[in-house]
Amino acid sequence: MCQSTCKPGIVIVNLAHPNWDYEEKELGQLAEIKVARCRSYDELFSLCRNADILMVGDIKHVPLTRDVLEKLQKLKLISVYGVGIDTIDLDAASELGILVANAPEYGIEDVADHTLALMLSLLRRIPMLDNELRKSGWNSIRVNINDLREKFGAFRRLSSLVIGLTGFGRIGRAVAKRLQPFGCRIIAYDPYVPDHIFQQHQVERSDFENLLACSDIILIHVMLTKETYHLLDEKAFQLMKDGAMLVNTSRGEVVDEEALIKALKSGKLLGAALDVFEKEPLPKDHPLTKMPNVILSPHIAWYSEEAMMEQKRETVLNVKEFLLGRRPPYLVKS
Ligand code: NAD
Repeated sequence: MCQSTCKPGIVIVNLAHPNWDYEEKELGQLAEIKVARCRSYDELFSLCRNADILMVGDIKHVPLTRDVLEKLQKLKLISVYGVGIDTIDLDAASELGILVANAPEYGIEDVADHTLALMLSLLRRIPMLDNELRKSGWNSIRVNINDLREKFGAFRRLSSLVIGLTGFGRIGRAVAKRLQPFGCRIIAYDPYVPDHIFQQHQVERSDFENLLACSDIILIHVMLTKETYHLLDEKAFQLMKDGAMLVNTSRGEVVDEEALIKALKSGKLLGAALDVFEKEPLPKDHPLTKMPNVILSPHIAWYSEEAMMEQKRETVLNVKEFLLGRRPPYLVKS
């Protein structure tokens, strides 16, 4: 690619960030950088054919399948801006000797903050109260507490509740740290995390059934796998405490949405707060958008300006280390 400079060639594909100053600053001495917007494979092949390294943003319209990777014959490294690597055929990349790296650590604090914000909003019914106050005025909700209780359900004090974390990885632990000062009882289910991590975070280990039965609020932080697909299904909702609440900032498919809607309608669940959905973008007329006991956000828990910068740093570091002949720190295993 770089006949003039003999530097390796990097193409940054479909960058979501407004500029690439940081990439230029960190990698400009080591490689020749081009930025490309690729909405079709014609564009991808014409702009990336000779790339040694691809740094990729949103490539869901041009996934790097086996066929595509076979055509990118100089390619040695793909560094993904983000966690998701489902748009890359990892087996094919591995067989073709192409390394794949991602940015797995950005946004942990932000997702944890967002989870707490959703949980507290649900517990204190903040969006519902705000909406009612604007729409119908003070007297519609503050005449007496019985009316309020009738409308929104009984409020509970956080320090008297049991919070159940499903999945106790990076985000689950960041959430537990934020919950500690509230004085609530924190239990967690994660069969893949050793005991000492639970002890270190002063969180009680639980099995799944016990967590469902004991928790007043369930927070979901598992990764999506075959095993966790619809982990929260109809049976799980039946096992929950009457009047429990659910917060999901992990992946939509972990919750069977049909079963969730049923549990919300029947009153089994008092409320839910969701950042992620089985189908994204969430259709405007989706039943969840019409439910008064549900708080929604558009898969944005990861976002803060600080997280965006972290994402850049991790993606660039993978490339920089590779160019310096070292192992990229966030390699993905196929
Ligand atoms: P992580 O890999 O650090 O933790 C996930 C945990 O899930 C691991 O500890 C793992 O042992 C556990 N787990 C796996 N299978 C399980 C099972 N069957 N039962 C119970 N636990 C199981 O991941 P993380 O960085 O903490 O991310 C957690 C979730 O948050 C992921 O689904 C990720 O995709 C999602 N996420 C969402 C956003 C957003 O903007 N909403 C942003 C980043 C991450």
